[in-house]
Amino acid sequence: MSTTIKSKTIREGNAIATLTLARKQHRCVQCPKPILAGAYYYAIICGGAGLGSTKFPDRVHSDCLQPYFQTNIRQGRIRYPINPSGLSDGDWDVILHQGKY
Ligand SMILES: [Zn+2]
Repeated sequence: MSTTIKSKTIREGNAIATLTLARKQHRCVQCPKPILAGAYYYAIICGGAGLGSTKFPDRVHSDCLQPYFQTNIRQGRIRYPINPSGLSDGDWDVILHQGKY
C-alpha cells in the first residue's frame, strides 16, 4: 500500500482538511472503500456549515481529497472567498482542538 502523506492541514475555500490517524474504521464519503483503522485520512469541516460539522467531519482517503474538493466546489458546499464565516485562524485552532478527531 502506498499512502502519500501530504500537508497536515489543507484549506480550500471555506473548508479545512486535517490529516488524521484513524483509530477505528471509517467510511470515505468520496469512494466506496473503507478507511481502515491505523491509516491516515483527511477530516474535513466547512466554515459556515454550523458547528455540527466539527463534530461530524467528512472523512476521505488522502487520495480522495482532491476529487472531494472538486465535487463539493461544484455542488456549492465549498465556497469562496476563503473566509465567508468570518472565522479567524485562531478560531479554527480552537475548533480543531475541541474536535479531537
Ligand atoms: Zn476514498
